[in-house]
Amino acid sequence: MGGGVLVDVVVLAPAVLASRRETTTMGKNERRRLAASATPWGGIGDDKLEPAQRMVAESHRSIYAFRHEKFEGDADFFNGYARDACPRCGSQDIAKRGFDSRGVQRYFSSGCRHGFTPQTGTIFEDRKLPLPAWTDYLLQVFSYDSFASMAREARRSDTTRPYWNAKLFSVLEGIQDDAVLSGRVWVDETYWPVSAKEAVRRPDGKLPRGLSVNQMCIGVGVDGDGRSIYIHEGFGKTSKAKTRLAFGGRIERGSELVHDMEGAHDAIVSDLGLKRERHNSKLLKGMPDDQNPLAPVNRMCFLLKRFLGSHSGFKRSNIQGYLDVFYVIANPPGNEMEKAALVLDRAMRCPKTLRFREFYNVKPHVSR
Ligand SMILES: [Zn+2]
Repeated sequence: MGGGVLVDVVVLAPAVLASRRETTTMGKNERRRLAASATPWGGIGDDKLEPAQRMVAESHRSIYAFRHEKFEGDADFFNGYARDACPRCGSQDIAKRGFDSRGVQRYFSSGCRHGFTPQTGTIFEDRKLPLPAWTDYLLQVFSYDSFASMAREARRSDTTRPYWNAKLFSVLEGIQDDAVLSGRVWVDETYWPVSAKEAVRRPDGKLPRGLSVNQMCIGVGVDGDGRSIYIHEGFGKTSKAKTRLAFGGRIERGSELVHDMEGAHDAIVSDLGLKRERHNSKLLKGMPDDQNPLAPVNRMCFLLKRFLGSHSGFKRSNIQGYLDVFYVIANPPGNEMEKAALVLDRAMRCPKTLRFREFYNVKPHVSR
């Protein structure tokens, strides 16, 4: 094998592996970049490799195949969601009509006289990447430690990442509508600046001070059972109306509210008949967490900000999307595989198509 040194490790989680996929070999003072699917032993038969080299090559190829090639489980997954109505016209007058080339169940709708499959009307209708790759993306999104690195490394092409995020946001839209906090409930507001590009300036060109229109107000609620919610209330300071919209439907009547001196909270206290425990957060500054009565909500605000900070410069129109992702991360189930399964299931049960063209506003070709 001469002096070529392999600078890669294979016994790592797929997420880590992916970031190392751009393996380089060093030899003759040159750095050579390999194609994603290649190994440094391209021309050599597997039988001539050392056992360790063969192990690395085989693992690398199997992971590459897993990420990029058709996956036989696709059809089983889609067929697991039998349809009882047409996703286009809503007609229940439908009949099964065999299978497509990949083994996915086909249906025919007598309502609109069109065929469809369980994929129709879901984010998977226009498939740019195989299902396992999207699943792998979800696993990365929901494993807490990897966000920051994930946001920094543009590991997939620049156009793919925002598109996949947009798909995820559309699947998660409304996921916090059913959340209900109960028992002892902590609430607070936290603020996050809009990106410099989107900031509104005063006539003299300077940024307004304080809790201006350039601050996104986020309502955060936590309860004693480890549930928490994250709702974009709008821009600038909170108000009674904003507090009602954020928390009104998401706290059980008669719960016990633990909060700071924010007067806007009075709205939900009276609406929902809450018992209340108020604290002056200024007097609690510097108090250790185990003595600070507002610690549960402070902690989630801190973690949320760390999360938002790892995705710098996002468009303000996407804030609720990021909050929904954080909601999934912060709430049960705890394991990222269970979270990914929950989101895949939601994608099939709450169909929302997001086509590549619509996302990028590309004019369709006139052919067809
Ligand atoms: Zn139809």
